[in-house]
This record gives sequence, C-alpha cells and structure tokens, in this order.
Amino acid sequence: MPPKRGEPPEPLPGIIDSHAHTSWSREFDDDRPAVLDRAWAAGLTRIVEVGVSLRTTLACKAAAEADPRFIAVGGIHPHEANQLVRDGAAFRTAIEAGGYAAIGEIGLDFFHKHSTPEEQYEALAWQLDLALDVKLPVMIHAREADEECFAILAGWAERAGSVLESERPVGMMHCFSGDLELAQRYIDIGFVISVPGTVTFKGNERGQAVARDIPLTSMLVETDCPYLTPAPHRGLRNEPAYVVETARFVAALRGVSPEEVARTTSMNAARFFGFDAAFDAMAGTA
Ligand SMILES: [Zn+2]
Repeated sequence: MPPKRGEPPEPLPGIIDSHAHTSWSREFDDDRPAVLDRAWAAGLTRIVEVGVSLRTTLACKAAAEADPRFIAVGGIHPHEANQLVRDGAAFRTAIEAGGYAAIGEIGLDFFHKHSTPEEQYEALAWQLDLALDVKLPVMIHAREADEECFAILAGWAERAGSVLESERPVGMMHCFSGDLELAQRYIDIGFVISVPGTVTFKGNERGQAVARDIPLTSMLVETDCPYLTPAPHRGLRNEPAYVVETARFVAALRGVSPEEVARTTSMNAARFFGFDAAFDAMAGTA
C-alpha cells in the first residue's frame, strides 16, 4: 500500500532521524507530545536534536537530559553568525559543559545571507576550532557555498583526523544538496552524507543520484523538521516520523530493503554521534 498524505507511515523499526528541531521549533508548540508519540510509533529509536543559536543549543541538551532517545547537537547557524560576538563565550561554556554529540549546525549560507559572509566565515572557523578543543565532529549546513565550504572543511578534516577517534567520521553534511562528485569528495575526507526528504521530490535527479550511488555505509537520513517534508506529505509540516518515507524511498532507489537502509544508517549514526547502536537494537524494536 502506498503511503497516504498526512497519515502515519508504515513503521520501520530501528530508524533514526539524524537532524530535527522538535525540541525548540515553535511549529511544534501546540502538539509536541503527539508528534513524538508518532515518531516512536513509526519505529524511530533516536532523534538528533540540533541547535542553531545559544538558546536552541541549550534546549537540545535539556531535551536529551529528559529523554535519552534524544541526541543533542549544538551550534550557531550561519544565519545567526552575527550573534557570535554577543553569545560566543556563553556558547563555548555550554559546549564545554558536555552533553553534546557534535557541533552543528554550522556552515555557510550565501543564499539567505542573514549574516554577512565575513560573519559567517568567522563563526564557522571559530566553531571548527571549538570542535577540536572538545574533540567532537561537526554537522555542516552549506547552501550556495559548496566549494567555499569544502575548501575550509578539507583543511579542517586533516587536523581533525589526528584529534578525533580514528573510526569516527569527522563530519556530517546535513541536508546534502550537492552532486555525486562532491559527495564522494566529502566521503574521501572522512564525512558522512545526510539525505533529506527532498530526495523524494520529482525532478531531484541530483539528490537521487547521490542517494543511489554513495556507499550506504556513508549515509544518514534526516528530516530537518519542521522543514523539507518528503513526499507524499509535501506541503504539510515535517516531523520525525516522516524520515521513514525518506528511508523507504532510498531503499527503492537502491534496490535494497527498507530494513537494510534503517539498520545501516542507524549504525552509521551511532558511529558518528557516538552512542551504542547495539543497545538500541535490543531496546528499541523488542
Ligand atoms: Zn536544520
């Protein structure tokens, strides 16, 4: 049965949403518990909650402390890069206090330019240094800045390789929208590629080529909810449960089972974010 628009997806046990904003986005203020109930019912074992500012970074950690199924990631988004002067010291204190699995989302966004390119470059460089100080990988947002980001991250990845644990990917390209060639270059420098719901959109041949042809061992799946809702729910608010639709779409593209996509992307997430997938396998799907 094909999924119906707005209806809960057929569960896919063991799946992980590697990038979401349920803990602080106002879009969930009216029905957050119901959204999360649907996520766990859809088979999710973890939701990675991602900050974009000091305030939201703190909210992600509070969520993870209240429920271990949340993973907290903290960062100052390129849109908010102009807040670094005001909030940088407090942000560093928050990260150094622990409880975060990665630094993100950070990066460059030359599409919106809510902060100037200079502010964005400075915030990115500062947070890349912080990540090495606290020995954490990074989660990257890149829009209209593919080559600028890659140049910076290729240099950083060399430094990170000697600082982070050897088997741990050094970075994650959140909501990757580049082409297959760029995805391969990121994989070559030790990054994983996160596939968003836009892969399901008709005409997104570039995203589909990436999702079909990169090694499954280098892939994560994410919603970026409340944004980027996959088919068949496009036009509605996105929520973590819909990561199942993305995983099923990727499975069909690759000619493998949805269970294999769930299992492998969740193992990849465990390796990247540094938690125990074996525990999830026992606890999550029984
Ligand atoms: Zn996001």
